[in-house]
Amino acid sequence: MKKKFYITTPIYYTNQAPHVGTAYTTIAADVLARYHRQKGDDVLFLTGTDEHGEKIAQAAKKAGKSPQEFVDGIAEEFKKSWKALNISNDDFIRTTDEKHKRGVEKFLLKLKESGKVYQDEYKGLYCTGCEKFITKKELVDGKCPDHQKEPELISETNYFFKLKDFLPQVKKLIEDDKILIEPQERKKEVLSLIDQDLGNFSISRQNVEWGIPLPFDKKQNIYVWVEALQNYVTAIGYEDNKEKFNQYWPADLHLVGKDIIKFHAIFWPALLLAVGLKLPKKIFVHGFFTIDGQKMSKTLGNVIDPIYLADKYGVDSLRYFLLREIAFGQDGDFSIRRLEERYNADLANGLGNLVSRVLTLASKINIIGKQGELTKKIEPVRKKYQEALAQIKFNEALESVWQLIGFCDEYIEKNKPWELVKNDQKKAGEILSELLISLKEISSLLEPFLPDTAEKIMSQLKDNKKGKSLFPRL
Ligand SMILES: [Zn+2]
Repeated sequence: MKKKFYITTPIYYTNQAPHVGTAYTTIAADVLARYHRQKGDDVLFLTGTDEHGEKIAQAAKKAGKSPQEFVDGIAEEFKKSWKALNISNDDFIRTTDEKHKRGVEKFLLKLKESGKVYQDEYKGLYCTGCEKFITKKELVDGKCPDHQKEPELISETNYFFKLKDFLPQVKKLIEDDKILIEPQERKKEVLSLIDQDLGNFSISRQNVEWGIPLPFDKKQNIYVWVEALQNYVTAIGYEDNKEKFNQYWPADLHLVGKDIIKFHAIFWPALLLAVGLKLPKKIFVHGFFTIDGQKMSKTLGNVIDPIYLADKYGVDSLRYFLLREIAFGQDGDFSIRRLEERYNADLANGLGNLVSRVLTLASKINIIGKQGELTKKIEPVRKKYQEALAQIKFNEALESVWQLIGFCDEYIEKNKPWELVKNDQKKAGEILSELLISLKEISSLLEPFLPDTAEKIMSQLKDNKKGKSLFPRL
């Protein structure tokens, strides 16, 4: 039987169009999805959009649209962007989908039945920028540090979830890696958050109109975070399509940014425990990047449109750069200068040059399937690559491919096949055979990362014609 692999990105908040940050997570998920498909796994790759909440209602108002019109437009932009970036998602969930709303209602009813929901008055500070309650401790100069805005003081009667009842169990599960949180430092961060004595949290809001009504008290809407998290189960047919749900749940991997780990690593497992569902196997937390050393923000005007980059440098170049330049899981910096440097060095001169050299020489002679000195190096490279991807170290996986490219270059320099084609056709055939086998391997290793390029290399190999330039120099 095929092994299943269910991978998710966070659903992106629709107050803003896709940018290079959201593209980063989605491309990462895409590489893993493609890699698992290549291995023969039964992959389900989910992404989507988070469309409710006050912040969306405000953004819609500002744009002179109804919330629904507004989110329809943004969801469309996300879909278009992912298509342009060659993202192979199997499904795209929107929290305004009927399927999602139905599932959420059933989830909330189960939660109520569990006896872990109660009514209470809430008084506290709320940041609409974050769409979350915020404590005085978290403020800097009285403002939310992420939004530079003073939070609102809110007092209302809400429904609460008894998170505290589940904290010891969640803590144990994380300690024992039953929910694996990576990288290690993030696991420590989550455990220390649990130790800071988190309170119960509100699952509904009274005065937020753009949302899903609480099924047991329609005067309230479900708190946007609570229903958004449920997209991971509603998308695969929670209480709706049993067969599909049982096939894919629990998720094998949630990819999340470091700003949302509390919700994913503590609240989400607790909610799942309360309704009796299995828990996600792994949560991988990636870092953020600055743009030329500065935080990316609308106010600074340095939010980069991934489609612009893909148009200018090519989709594969962007995919390559994002995953090669910054170690996934760490913070890093994005700059056009670095992108251009890497493009010229790694793609135009490295990969592109090798492919065209080998194919041009190989088109002149008869190839025999000889293996030897060079092809012996393939197996250890493949092993390194697989180990790196098992640990979600994209940069190391790519490094190993470029190591093989380096071996090929050395082999060419050493054996000078351009001379051999003139005076020793047999020997030239042997040398080029090894190079062609290596190219085939390189293209297969690159497929998850650079799907178009890999396809071009494969079709040039089949045609056995002169190599065409894959990456013209900038
Ligand atoms: Zn905020």
